Amino acid sequence: MQKEKVEFGNQVIEFDLEYRSRKTLGIIVLPDQNVLVKAPLQANLEKIKTRIKQRAPWILKQQRFFLRYHPLTPPRQFINGETHLYLGRQYRLKIISAEQNSVKLKGGFLEVYSAYHLETAFIKKLVLKWYFIRAKAKIEEYVAYWIEKFEKYQVKPSAIIIRPLTKRWGSCSPKGRILLNSELIKAPKGCIEYVIIHELCHLIYPNHTQKFFELLIKEMPDWERWKHRLEQWIA
Ligand SMILES: [Zn+2]
Repeated sequence: MQKEKVEFGNQVIEFDLEYRSRKTLGIIVLPDQNVLVKAPLQANLEKIKTRIKQRAPWILKQQRFFLRYHPLTPPRQFINGETHLYLGRQYRLKIISAEQNSVKLKGGFLEVYSAYHLETAFIKKLVLKWYFIRAKAKIEEYVAYWIEKFEKYQVKPSAIIIRPLTKRWGSCSPKGRILLNSELIKAPKGCIEYVIIHELCHLIYPNHTQKFFELLIKEMPDWERWKHRLEQWIA
């Protein structure tokens, strides 16, 4: 993946360019407003840029569209009463002074016990660490279930890596290394499973061909519902 940009009027459109074995140029505007361009292996960079310029009005419109969703997911401040998401449900942050640091879900609350101080930066660190640990545990649990289901196709990922990713929910390398975004832990289980199944299908069909989608439908008949939900939901 390489970083490129084009100028359009007084605006600059930056995009990530990825060469793939495909016939047409694909332009995707992600909810974080990043632009991902998938180009055929032989594509000429200048021609790609010309095409991006032609599509600039649409790209800018999409970016504005996603911008509208931002007020729904403001950056968290890590203060009492604020809502935080876990597996598709909202929990209110409750900060409690205690002898030992810990974070746990209790009823509708995400309780943070802090030993040292109640500074937001410290609370944030505790919460993010908790999210990451939970993400690893839960996503790994779902992955294990689906890996077993895919044994019938005689495929298995060479590695599963769960970590924060800024531009995508998941990916599968040609060597079968599956990367999953730890932020998925905030989404409903169905959304997480959709991403897992999607990437596992890539072990069999690397590209989004008809066969790929046939397999996806077979393993998850309502995948589109979950995909849609994931796209609208956490930006
Ligand atoms: Zn894919």
